[in-house]
Amino acid sequence: MRITSIDCHVLLQPAFDITAASSAQDDIVVEIHTDEGISGIGETDVNPWIAKACIEAPGSHNMGVGLTELLVGLDPMDVEGIWERMYVSTAMNGRRGAVINAIGALDIALHDLRGKALGVPCYELLGGAVQSSITPYASLQPETNSYAEYRESLIDWAQRAVNLGFHAVKAEITLEGPFAHTGMREPWERSTEVLAGVRKAVGPDTSLMIDVQYAFPDADTALRVLKTWEEFNLFFVETPLWPDDLEGYRRLADEQSIPIAAGEWLTTRFEHLDLMDRGGVRIVQPDIGRVGGLTEAKRVCQLAADRGLSIVPHLWKTGISVAAAAHLATATPNCPFIEYMPAELTASGLRRDLADDGMTLVDGKVSPSSGPGLGIDINRDALEYYAAVARESYQP
Ligand SMILES: [Mg+2]
Repeated sequence: MRITSIDCHVLLQPAFDITAASSAQDDIVVEIHTDEGISGIGETDVNPWIAKACIEAPGSHNMGVGLTELLVGLDPMDVEGIWERMYVSTAMNGRRGAVINAIGALDIALHDLRGKALGVPCYELLGGAVQSSITPYASLQPETNSYAEYRESLIDWAQRAVNLGFHAVKAEITLEGPFAHTGMREPWERSTEVLAGVRKAVGPDTSLMIDVQYAFPDADTALRVLKTWEEFNLFFVETPLWPDDLEGYRRLADEQSIPIAAGEWLTTRFEHLDLMDRGGVRIVQPDIGRVGGLTEAKRVCQLAADRGLSIVPHLWKTGISVAAAAHLATATPNCPFIEYMPAELTASGLRRDLADDGMTLVDGKVSPSSGPGLGIDINRDALEYYAAVARESYQP
């Protein structure tokens, strides 16, 4: 079997809000086709026009090879070998950043393709099932314009998530910092107020996580606020500090008791090693597309396991990423939760419409499809609709 072509679909939601702290408003979906008529599908969480350029741009020397040129003609079954070739052959432009993010989409598609060709689910090819089901946490981020609406909406969604059967909820409390939602600037006490409201709404038995999206300007400020959050029994606080402030992360690990989670923006196992060994995080959050795909995410899972750390994959895209995370988690013993944006509780039409992840929440748990590959169904009408919105919005 040989790879014959790659399609890159750039997708965009109508009326996207450029001030919203949500990348669920766009997407890039890649499809890798073969001469045997089997195709694989993947996606990644990065500016879709940039990812498309990373995949389609021609190369001009052997340290900057074009990804499409490289892949066409290769045997898609050699997924790990192809990952190495993509990583090495794009080194001058890649190694980190957008090129690795783009490689992630291709790698997910190759895993899907290989599973389909062999007639087995992806988790079998990632080492086999070590968990019979996975606990998703409902990831909640209202898109509203005022503090009062934000707080009410978040508390309401948290309550609804518990009513839908979720055992774990993550609240995005992004009222300060560089990515404060739609320009909100609220004192820290207000974040604490929202947190208290959410904890009350979900009750003491629901696992609760908080994502502040890099809101704290420094470790001293983070420590002052986090110490007031210790009473809320949080499973983790996500990305309290800028990702390059590894010394600050180390201080949070040493000087307060809430487990710190991070990793969503990092590419490759090498950046995650710094986060674990220098930053001292307890929960490692590779985004499967951004880190470089399932191949690289699996390596990060193993490095975390070697250190006694937990993996909770970051996820803010469609059912394609949900399925990829579920397959990874099924084959990963140190993965207690996956992130999950419930279709019922998201402002993202793309998330709701594009792909059926093939999973149903039963007793707070999900299992990936046992069908071949990722086991997802793409809604072709939705794909075409959101692709048309992207074309109307921007022509490179
Ligand atoms: Mg986050």
